[in-house]
Amino acid sequence: MFYHAGSAADRRHLRFPDVMPRGSRVRQFRFLTGVTAVLLFDAHLDIALNAVDWNRDLRQEVDELRAQERALGMTEPGRCGSTLSLPELRTAEIGVCLTTLLARQEKEVNHNFGWTTPETCYAMAHAHLAWYRAMERQGAMRMLKTRGDLAAHVADWHRDPKRAPLGFILTMEGADPVLNPDTIFEFHEHGLRAIGLTHYGANRYGGGTRVEVGLAVDAIPLLENISRLGMTVDVTHLSDVAFWQLLDRFNGRIHASHQNSRRIAAWQRQFSDEQYKAVIERDGVIGMAFDVIMMQHGYVRGVSKAEALIERAVDNIDIVCQLAGNVRHVGIGSDLDGGYGVEQTPADLDKIRDLQRLTDLLSHRGYSEADVAAIMHGNWIRFFSEALPA
Ligand SMILES: [Zn+2]
Repeated sequence: MFYHAGSAADRRHLRFPDVMPRGSRVRQFRFLTGVTAVLLFDAHLDIALNAVDWNRDLRQEVDELRAQERALGMTEPGRCGSTLSLPELRTAEIGVCLTTLLARQEKEVNHNFGWTTPETCYAMAHAHLAWYRAMERQGAMRMLKTRGDLAAHVADWHRDPKRAPLGFILTMEGADPVLNPDTIFEFHEHGLRAIGLTHYGANRYGGGTRVEVGLAVDAIPLLENISRLGMTVDVTHLSDVAFWQLLDRFNGRIHASHQNSRRIAAWQRQFSDEQYKAVIERDGVIGMAFDVIMMQHGYVRGVSKAEALIERAVDNIDIVCQLAGNVRHVGIGSDLDGGYGVEQTPADLDKIRDLQRLTDLLSHRGYSEADVAAIMHGNWIRFFSEALPA
């Protein structure tokens, strides 16, 4: 059922009725090897943001969520057009993800995204954490805090993808909820294993997307504590100057959870080849994002039409692999439902299950079955098998 009947996204979706054409080489390979599903590891989702801030019951199907918001007459961008929920993530064969605590401080009051004080950000991060814990109690999700947790969960998922809970590594997008550099110990105790210091704009720790300021003074003791805890830093959303300062100041593991190339969308949110190479040299992994503001040159939110297709991500995957000289440093970090909906996804992406079409697209581009598996999950699993505590 399509609630945006007549939109380009829906017309294109109708041309691709199958998530995965049954005769595909990858599907046959999986069948021959006895593996019935391709595990997808999504390194960037904002699941609790949707459950708590957007007040969605994510145990429902996407079609139900869309229908409820339409019935309520919601017209804000992203409403009536969600692309994921817990059952939808299962359909998409996403068995493991990084999901965020996300609460950004904004300077003025009464804004429609973000919070006015650091203390409110801290409280909202705890609300997100509490929601994940409630889902754990219901058996719908499972927090992965150690290498052993990750290995056991992946084995469990392969044994029974229809029943395994959604495994998640807890991350924070923007350190606004970290009241002072020592608060990170408390979040680590709660299970936090990765953190990006900034989001949009500048915060108390440094410059992020759309601004060009460097790291703030408080970032240095925070990075020292992160290093002591052995957490990985997500370098996505750092300003250029903050990115290079962080690489100089921090010797621990880094990754870029949802980070496209400036060759794909030429503005500061994306990385230059030099930034990609720096992440690759530090043995990091880079996630491909599916928000069209990061996939389409000149896209203006609320004005432009989403014309990029899912295959644009394969162009971006090619860029990373060419810079690396191998396929070891690229994965998926979809960012779907990250404060927007289907109005801002690739024109042929209606729900997150459509990401499974990547296997065929990669295969047709000449990637081997082993390469496809590395991109869909293997690289992130390798990275976190090393980065998580023993
Ligand atoms: Zn983001």
